[in-house]
Amino acid sequence: MLTDLTRCSIHTMTMRPWSLAQTISGLQRVGVPGITVWRQHLQPYGAEVAGRMLRASGLRVTALCRGGFFPAKDKPAREAALVDNRRAIDEAVTIGAPMVVLVCGAVPGMPLSEARQQIHDGIAALEPYAKANRVKLAIEPLHPLYAADRSAVNTMAQARAICEAVRSPWVGIAADVYHIWWDPDAEVELARAGAAGWLCGFHVCDWRVETRDLLNDRGLMGEGCIDIPHLRNAAERAGFTGFNEVEIFSTTRWAGDQDAWLDAIVDAYRRYT
Ligand code: ZN
Repeated sequence: MLTDLTRCSIHTMTMRPWSLAQTISGLQRVGVPGITVWRQHLQPYGAEVAGRMLRASGLRVTALCRGGFFPAKDKPAREAALVDNRRAIDEAVTIGAPMVVLVCGAVPGMPLSEARQQIHDGIAALEPYAKANRVKLAIEPLHPLYAADRSAVNTMAQARAICEAVRSPWVGIAADVYHIWWDPDAEVELARAGAAGWLCGFHVCDWRVETRDLLNDRGLMGEGCIDIPHLRNAAERAGFTGFNEVEIFSTTRWAGDQDAWLDAIVDAYRRYT
């Protein structure tokens, strides 16, 4: 049975070579209703203009990517990260995004336990601003291969621990199949996050068995070894009703024709999500 597109969203980063305007018209052409906007695609327009474009498009803005990167060696750098995160929340408000996705950060050489403490402290410090602006902070656990420099939050359980500690309806979890598929606790943690009301984002792509690049070689759904419908069902059984956001970083795909790439994404979404 084919999956319909009613809950399909695509990250602007998936269409990296395209401007925001090009991605908006591409999604309109294929009938994808949702869009998650990356800040680098927002930046050439500014949030005000981009917000007007998005509202006029009729697309639903599913999230702003991304905030986070909380840990740093010294206090001024951690403060600067908080300033930037508040700016991301402002941008989310301006473009109508209900959440900011957090890639939590890590510093090479810093003990992971210390990085995790700084991440907790950063999110706790940011929460009042998120709450005041009614924008959710979505903690995205990253695959452990990124623990050195991108995120010291590597499992759903670690993300849940932060949610439990901060205890706010404005702090939740974005689950990305690329990052959680290997985790033996993925299903049980999806259930826990869903039951607690913390599951606010769900990202799809695939894990290429012969991965050629640690960052920019994600597979199209159906092209790798992740049982996406299984994880999606686990999220939905836990009460998740949000969008399935297609987030694919692929140097190979970005080098080709983007209209054909978008058509391939829609076809794969229908078949394998
Ligand atoms: Zn993701």
